[in-house]
Amino acid sequence: MSETRLRDQIAELGKSLFDRGLTSGSSGNLSARLADGYLLTPTNSCLGRLDPARITKLDVHGNYVSGDRPSKEAFLHLSMYDERPSSGAVAHLHSTHAVAVSVLEGLDPDTPIPPITAYYVMRVGRLALLPYFPPGDLQLAGAVREVASKHHAILLANHGPVVAGADIEAAVYAMEELEETARIFLLLRGEKLRLLSQADVAELQRRFGG
Ligand code: ZN
Repeated sequence: MSETRLRDQIAELGKSLFDRGLTSGSSGNLSARLADGYLLTPTNSCLGRLDPARITKLDVHGNYVSGDRPSKEAFLHLSMYDERPSSGAVAHLHSTHAVAVSVLEGLDPDTPIPPITAYYVMRVGRLALLPYFPPGDLQLAGAVREVASKHHAILLANHGPVVAGADIEAAVYAMEELEETARIFLLLRGEKLRLLSQADVAELQRRFGG
């Protein structure tokens, strides 16, 4: 896909996420890998009103090349790309229900949201939970690097989700699936659940990968 088309697609998907309330104000950032670097939404930009021409371009090492200044959370995206050569895009939002789950006490760090639906297993897979770090703390980059090769979806405690995908559409769809699953999980808090079994999950992985 051409860089111009990819810029347009980031702006279109950003507007769609914003219009549906998955991100608000100037929070959240989207990025995509190019042959010669990365595109990343700029700092203090609203995903609902992105100008494709002003989206930040970084080189393959993550250095600024052109456009508006990059998001302060660029390192989250670059850590994912470094550890996941097959990932072509990353989405990071402060979406309400995923953030709400990230604040719950006593979550299992290996399974912060259990396998409640097939599409959650297929699109999000095994969600990793990382402890809280202040925004911009470079220790967070190290923590993301540690889990990114095994997990394409990561929940940052008291902060929000980071999700990688083969392309920008896949990353955004997986993010939406995670947000919807977080909402369902919260709706079901306190109820007795019939979760998918380990055999169910293994069968989904056999049929659909992940
Ligand atoms: Zn954030």
